[in-house]
Amino acid sequence: MVTKNHERIHLDDKNLCHLAMSELEDLYTDLGLSTEELDLLDMPRRTFTVHFPVRMDSGKIKMFIGHRVQYNDARGPAKGGIRFHPELTIDHVKDLAFLMSLKCAVANIPFGGSKGGVVVNPKGLSRNELEHATRGYIRAIADYIGPFKDIPAPDVYTDEKIMAWILDEFERIKGEHVPSMVTGKPIELGGSKARSYSTSLGGIYVLEEAMKKINLDKSKAFIAIQGFGNVGENAARLLHEREYNVIAVSDSKGGIIKEDGLFIPAVIKHKNETGSVIDFPGSKNITNEELLTCKCDILIPAALSDQLNRDNAPNVKSKLVLELANAPTTRDADDIFFDKNIMLIPDVLANAGGVVVSYFEWSQNLNNDYWEEEKVLEKLKKTMITAFNDVYSLCQEQKCRLRKSAYSVALKRILEAEKLRGNL
Ligand code: GLU
Repeated sequence: MVTKNHERIHLDDKNLCHLAMSELEDLYTDLGLSTEELDLLDMPRRTFTVHFPVRMDSGKIKMFIGHRVQYNDARGPAKGGIRFHPELTIDHVKDLAFLMSLKCAVANIPFGGSKGGVVVNPKGLSRNELEHATRGYIRAIADYIGPFKDIPAPDVYTDEKIMAWILDEFERIKGEHVPSMVTGKPIELGGSKARSYSTSLGGIYVLEEAMKKINLDKSKAFIAIQGFGNVGENAARLLHEREYNVIAVSDSKGGIIKEDGLFIPAVIKHKNETGSVIDFPGSKNITNEELLTCKCDILIPAALSDQLNRDNAPNVKSKLVLELANAPTTRDADDIFFDKNIMLIPDVLANAGGVVVSYFEWSQNLNNDYWEEEKVLEKLKKTMITAFNDVYSLCQEQKCRLRKSAYSVALKRILEAEKLRGNL
């Protein structure tokens, strides 16, 4: 990650850790970290790259590459998703594992951070090939994961069906039931109620606290959401149910806008029937770029990284940005928003609801005690609001941006755990 003289090591692409890195460079100076602390934060604890054979439908064997990085586990077992992506690199996985360590510490749940994945385009695999690739990856890393070592979950292009195969493969290897080894499972296999929409709902809880701070009233809050995958669609649905005015949404094919508000249940139906939100009757088609700069009060990037950048940030008109995607804002755009007094709720806080309910799932599995949805939601709300207040008070105290105070809260907690363990 960052060397002690703050020199950046190789970063394979221009997304998230550019932001994390430059923010951290400032922070390391502000926090006055010692050489030992910098050294400790500089490297992941464990990094695995595995190569494993998968029998394809043609009958031929193909070798696959998988990675898993356990960045820090001072506060508890490492925790983080598994993504299937054709451009996945070990450096990218390291960056994401580092962000997971910060996210779990910001939410103050007893986990460290990890991330992993398989280098593959899952859309190019049949159902059987996908299952064989998942099982092959788990066989290759089975010795290094487990409920008290490192707990996987869904991430980009993986879902509860894949989590079910992960559980099954692991249990075959161990010869016993171990539901707590993976989260984001189907409810029938020990998954938690509300896990499927917890990232979006956790973001809304935080958003509502932030709105109070800037005196933004629900009735006057017009919202635009970029991305209509699991997170974006659930955010739109939940906001609509809470009587917010969602005026614009988009997916990879484009977006739609209706200045006096979209009827989201009908947009979801239209998307399910046609494959996209575009051409929704009564709305106007717009591009993703137009969505980001449309006249709204709250902008929610819930798609890819680097969407808000130096080119479009000066034209963003919202008062508040809620990062439900990972790293949707570049450092340049972050600076522009700070100067324009736009409040930005950073990803490590805004989208932590997913891993928070993962923690509840793990805990339910270990205690063999399953909670009603109401209990999950109550505990999620409490955890998210506490995290928001921790970050917000530091931000007020230090007059800095929320991203910086979130990183600061997280690093202090991680370093404290390291000290107590005698590692510093
Ligand atoms: N992949 C999600 C994230 O990046 C969830 C991780 C988890 O639940 O462990 O936050």
